[in-house]
This record gives sequence, C-alpha cells and structure tokens, in this order.
Amino acid sequence: MPKNKLIVDADLFLFDLDGTIYLGDKPIPGVIDTLKQLTAMGKKVCFLTNNSSKDKTEYIKKITKMGYPVDLFQIVTSTMATIHYLHTRKPGKSVYPLGTPTFVKEIENAHIKIEEDADIVLLAFDTTITYDKLWKANILLNSGKEFIATHPDLVCPHELGDMPDVGSIIALFETSSGRTPSVICGKPHSPMAEIISSLFYVEKSRIAMIGDRLYTDILFGINNNMQSILVLSGETTKEMLDASGIKPTYVFDSIVDLFEEE
Ligand SMILES: [Mg+2]
Repeated sequence: MPKNKLIVDADLFLFDLDGTIYLGDKPIPGVIDTLKQLTAMGKKVCFLTNNSSKDKTEYIKKITKMGYPVDLFQIVTSTMATIHYLHTRKPGKSVYPLGTPTFVKEIENAHIKIEEDADIVLLAFDTTITYDKLWKANILLNSGKEFIATHPDLVCPHELGDMPDVGSIIALFETSSGRTPSVICGKPHSPMAEIISSLFYVEKSRIAMIGDRLYTDILFGINNNMQSILVLSGETTKEMLDASGIKPTYVFDSIVDLFEEE
C-alpha cells in the first residue's frame, strides 16, 4: 500500500535543510517524493535555514538538482530575517558586518549602510573571518555599540567535521568583551517568525515546523505557537530527546513519516 494519508493537519510546512532534507550532498531517502506529494496536495512548502553564509540561489540549485524544483520564494534564510528586522526596527542604523562576501552583498543590496565605526556589530556565519575583523568588532562592543547576530547555532554540520558557527563566536565575544547579542534573528527567535508572517498569510496554528535540531527548529515552532515535528534523520537521537525539556508535537524517523498507509 502506498503511504498517502497525511498525518499532520497544516497548510504551510517549514522544513529545515541539513539533517532534515539532506545530509551533506545526499538527499535523505524518500524526502523528494514526500515534498512532491505535499505540493501535489496544494500544501505550501518552504525551506528555512539559519545559515547566513550562503545565498538563496545555492539552496535552490542544490534541492532542484536532487529532484524537487524550488522557487525563490520557498527559501527563507536568517539573513532575510535579519534584514527585515533591521529595516523595521533599526531604520537608518549602520552595521559592521562579520560575514562572508555573499552576506555583505545581501546587506548592501538591502541598502543597509556599512561602516567601520558602525552603530551595530552584525555577526553572521563568517567562514572568511579574520583576527582583524574579530578585533575591530571587539573594540566596537567595548565602546557600547549594539550587538545583533543572525542565528544562535553552535556548530554547522559538515562531512569533514563540525564547523564553529555563530553561537561559538558569540561565546568568544562574551569572553573578550562581556557582551552578548541583544537580538538574535534566526530560529528559534521571533524575527524569523516575523519574516514568515510577512511572506505567507497562514495562521500560526496552521504552520508545521519540521527539523532535526531541538534548540533551534523545535523551539522555534514551540515559541511561535506552530506545530513542531522532530525528525531523527539528523543530529538529535532518541536519547537526546528523552533528556531534553523541549518536547515536539510529533517525532518521526524522517519526513517520509508525514504520510502513513491509508
Ligand atoms: Mg538541521
């Protein structure tokens, strides 16, 4: 019997990427058919990533190549949530970005002023970080400038081994300046929910957030009154779930289990 009965009653399905849709460059078995099945039913499908080092087009190419054609509007990044936050809450403020050239270009394209003696230290996932950038940012933080980060993830999974992510650099600045960000924009925080609300007109209770990480994906769903679905296809094990206070609405082995046999 084919699995064609959808278990989760929602209109918008927000999917994390790494550990949920793919592991590195390999799609998790069955996920492409599941995405196609949801789309064929008229469900809205969107991919939500905290990674602020890459451009949306890279994700479009990657998922489309795996067999699910993606449109630009279906990818939402923590960079978009950050830009939306800066435009709406900090209009006219300048930033000193710690980010990749791709991130800096997105900030420039959004007409946010970049300068050395900026109002805000803006920390993104900077895989091109240098000692000089860390030092300059530390001087600004010590002089009392505002501190905003794109997302809180401690590490980014990689085939060669975990990469230190924004959360680890936040810990560095906490040590060197005693400062922590006043706002973090990506999952599980509210600016990411605000960008979703501005893009999709779907009630929170009709949204399902699906991901493999408890402290970002699942907490995002819980914090924002969405349904939350943990998949065990990525970093979280059954033991980690049992030991955690964060409890998702559903737990599946992978997104394939969104459907069951009728
Ligand atoms: Mg993930």
